[in-house]
Amino acid sequence: MSRIAYVNGQYQPHSHANVHIEDRGYQFADGVYEVVTIVNSKMIDEEGHLQRLWRSLAELRIDAPMKAEPLKMVMREVVRRNGIVNGIIYLQVTRGVAPRDHPFPKNTPPALVMTAKRLSMDKAEKTAEKGVSVVTVPDIRWARCDIKSVSLLPNVLAKQAAKDNGAYEAFQIDADGMVTEGSSTNAWIVDQNGKVITRPTSNEILAGITRASLIRELEKKGVEFELRSFTVEELHNAREVFLTSSTSYVLPVVKVDEHVIGNGNPGSISMTLREIYREFMNAAS
Ligand code: PMP
Repeated sequence: MSRIAYVNGQYQPHSHANVHIEDRGYQFADGVYEVVTIVNSKMIDEEGHLQRLWRSLAELRIDAPMKAEPLKMVMREVVRRNGIVNGIIYLQVTRGVAPRDHPFPKNTPPALVMTAKRLSMDKAEKTAEKGVSVVTVPDIRWARCDIKSVSLLPNVLAKQAAKDNGAYEAFQIDADGMVTEGSSTNAWIVDQNGKVITRPTSNEILAGITRASLIRELEKKGVEFELRSFTVEELHNAREVFLTSSTSYVLPVVKVDEHVIGNGNPGSISMTLREIYREFMNAAS
């Protein structure tokens, strides 16, 4: 089945889908995005992702490209046309196409693009069973990391630093030596007392939807956790480390920089939380 993209009202072959050279997303990174995971043909946390999309748009004063119901219909149609059972749908909204000039253009409708891609569940499971390694890099991003902007250059550089070092992800460290988050994931530790810890939401990190859902599941199950910032030393000396994101779910980390975490295998608490998150996804309607 060939891939189909949605571009400003049209379904186009993915290989030929394109936007105008004066799309403000292309010229100014003046846009936002979301990635929704599809597991067994079900969208995971669709509402949470759409809420975050509306929030990102409002913070940047970009008009919504359409109302929630038609947007959901287009999302379903993109999933259907691409025959996605397990994979992701990517949505991007920019401030539209206008002659290049920094201020907001007048009377310019926002531009909406969606693509979809299949992902292998087996591969994700194998990765989780082994655990992944992480490197740390300075956080060089702007002061509004809560907005899911397509302006991702620091994140791109961080992920490349991870790749250059044979790692899966880079955790970013702020000027005070505290861990903010991964380049495309939220960071968690389990301390030596078995306490699960992740940074509270603020302008300094993206409020991950997976993070929020895992927190909700932990609350339901009465699993203790703490919302606080932690240092890079705490990260290096943690009993367990894991990360969360829509495409990684709950993923154990077994090495951070030169520090082997635990015995170098995924920790039991991380694997239990992965299982809790998997049950949550299976229960999604
Ligand atoms: N932080 C950043 C910077 C991200 O790009 C992502 C991925 N969207 C996340 C955290 C994880 O968020 P989510 O669980 O919503 O995928």
